[in-house]
Amino acid sequence: MIKKILIANRGEIACRIIKTAKKLKIKTVSIYSDSDINAEHVLMSDESYYLGPSEASKSYLNISKIIEICKKAEVDAVHPGYGFLSENPNFVRELTKNKIIFIGPSENAIISMGDKIKSKMIAEKASVNVVPGFIGEINNVNHAKEISKKIGFPVIVKASAGGGGKGMRIVNFEEDVEEAFLRASSEAKNSFADERLFVEKYLVEPRHIEIQIIADNYGNVVSLGERECSIQRRNQKVIEEAPSSFLDETLRRDMSTQAIMLAKEVEYSSAGTVEFIVDKDKNFYFLEMNTRLQVEHPVTEMITGLDLVNEMINVANKKKLSFSQKDIKLNGWAFESRIYAEDPYKGFLPSTGRLTKYSPPSEDKSMDYEIRNDTGVKEGDEISIFYDPMIAKLSTWGKDRKSAIKFMEKALDEFCISGLKNNLSFLSSIYLNPKFVDGKISTAFIEREFKNGFKGLPIKQYKSLFEIIILSVSAENEIRDLNLKKFDKRTSVELFDFFDNKKYISDEYIVRLDNKMFEISKLDGNLHLLDKIYNKLRVHHQIDFQTNLININIYEDDQILLSTFLKLNYCFPYYQIDFRGSSVKGITRDSVNLELSKFMKKVDDEENKNSLICPMPGKLIELFVKVGDQIEVGQNLCIVEAMKMENTLVSSLKGQVKKINFKVNDLLKVDDIIIEF
Ligand code: ADP
Ligand code: ADP
Ligand code: MG
Repeated sequence: MIKKILIANRGEIACRIIKTAKKLKIKTVSIYSDSDINAEHVLMSDESYYLGPSEASKSYLNISKIIEICKKAEVDAVHPGYGFLSENPNFVRELTKNKIIFIGPSENAIISMGDKIKSKMIAEKASVNVVPGFIGEINNVNHAKEISKKIGFPVIVKASAGGGGKGMRIVNFEEDVEEAFLRASSEAKNSFADERLFVEKYLVEPRHIEIQIIADNYGNVVSLGERECSIQRRNQKVIEEAPSSFLDETLRRDMSTQAIMLAKEVEYSSAGTVEFIVDKDKNFYFLEMNTRLQVEHPVTEMITGLDLVNEMINVANKKKLSFSQKDIKLNGWAFESRIYAEDPYKGFLPSTGRLTKYSPPSEDKSMDYEIRNDTGVKEGDEISIFYDPMIAKLSTWGKDRKSAIKFMEKALDEFCISGLKNNLSFLSSIYLNPKFVDGKISTAFIEREFKNGFKGLPIKQYKSLFEIIILSVSAENEIRDLNLKKFDKRTSVELFDFFDNKKYISDEYIVRLDNKMFEISKLDGNLHLLDKIYNKLRVHHQIDFQTNLININIYEDDQILLSTFLKLNYCFPYYQIDFRGSSVKGITRDSVNLELSKFMKKVDDEENKNSLICPMPGKLIELFVKVGDQIEVGQNLCIVEAMKMENTLVSSLKGQVKKINFKVNDLLKVDDIIIEF
């Protein structure tokens, strides 16, 4: 029996594993690098050991050091989480040699399934539908061309050792094969030290649907249903859900049957995921198998009621599965949103820095709903350049898809992160998208719906809400700074679309004071979101002066209607609010000031526009322009690699390239001027 485990990972997944271990009264050992000395996973565990420098290769990927710690701490078993060493057969072999249990599948299963070419061969042998293509290694450009023509364009060139959306290139025409082949193979060599490539048919706008399986060591394999992960950006998952709105019972059964056949073929044990892509006609094709706990496993847990880490530990303890296929009932609907440290308004550039505010919605569970937040950070922690930019995984469950979406919208409103850029508003805008709500999604969804990048949703829908919030806050300011009597007079609000600088002048309001509660009523005009309830709204807010964040709660009678945070980016009377995918600037002025403001010169608060400034430390890996080139707004300028991601920097202006200060492979610091216009 496993009594003590080491978690060979960090961040949210290490914390998640520790939670289950605690529940099972298993002692936990964590490991940490320089930048993780005070990390959550270290604080949560019973014991912790220092690994080495922050770079993953010198810490979380250091097999011999981790084994040494396992022996020193006398652990019975290791859980690898995902990423890092989770799919590394050498790690499993070394652990086994030292009589330490690996909580995961066998070394052989990892070897067979970790390699995409090999796994496709095995899948074909097990009569699993594979993506049409050439199952074997492509040796050179001519070979790639010949195979691609045979398959028919479009095709996708992929690294056999690939993972995390890296090492693949889509090719639409024969003349582009060469470039795709060379880029994919160099990326594969750099990322996985393995340049082997293969080519398969590229399915246009498929859905990504995967089957979670769990298997014991006695040949029992059970399907825990599917997860749909079609909402992806650059082949990486952003939102996942379970079940999938595209599957009916027959398709679910057929896909599960094939996943189980594949698992049996490699004598799989533990939790694993068989990934498929599904076309419009519901044909499905095997993509790859992930031989580990998957990032998006919480949605499966929410609809099955199982704890996958607990099940993995049971299997590692050589227990039989305590359920069979007929015991698995999928109940309700769950979504997971990956909250990343990145700036959706600037081409999703990763963002690093300190979480000056980190306040997730509270976790909660009842018969009708569940809110879950898997995280490995707390307020004050730093998101560094060394690891994944994922801050948290916010999941919600409801009885059906619509209610799960509603709970997610609300939970995203309540989530407050400050100190670094994050994708909360981008996530909100997806949940508000009518096509998404109708389940009309594919892996091309984000690309199609945000053709020119993410610009924020128009503020119109929430205009009235923003006005009410701003008035409420400005009222508070006036009470504090000026005098109370002012409050019987009319105040006006101007709202500017943050990105367009389009101006909306509102109707007038009367703001009345009632200690800290405000009753706000609108004189005329129609309110959109708040149509029915504008007569009796109470707005309660609390300002945190350290972070300049304001928590807003809007009540009708005693029912809370809406709870969100607004960030004061400027001093009173200037505000900026981010809410449900919209971002606005607001100014409050009394009628005299409003008149006078018409004579003020407009200030341009855009950043320095005549140069491309490096937003994060990284390496310049590609330049798309040369001196003298004419450039357009939104045009790709260069790629900077940072936080394991390739980030394309785009132009925010129309102009001409005057000077380029760096060359490919140069290391860049924050604020380095890469290109001058
Ligand atoms: P999932 O479907 O579970 O998201 P991914 O293949 O996207 O699977 O990767 C899971 C995790 O593993 C990611 O969060 C990422 O941090 C890590 N990962 C994947 N590929 C790599 C890689 N090449 N190098 C380092 N980490 C990786
Ligand atoms: P990784 O190991 O990086 O997760 P996958 O093979 O699982 O790589 O592919 C990741 C994503 O890339 C898929 O979810 C899908 O969106 C896209 N993709 C991969 N292969 C194909 C294909 N043949 N046709 C269409 N899309 C594909
Ligand atoms: Mg995959």
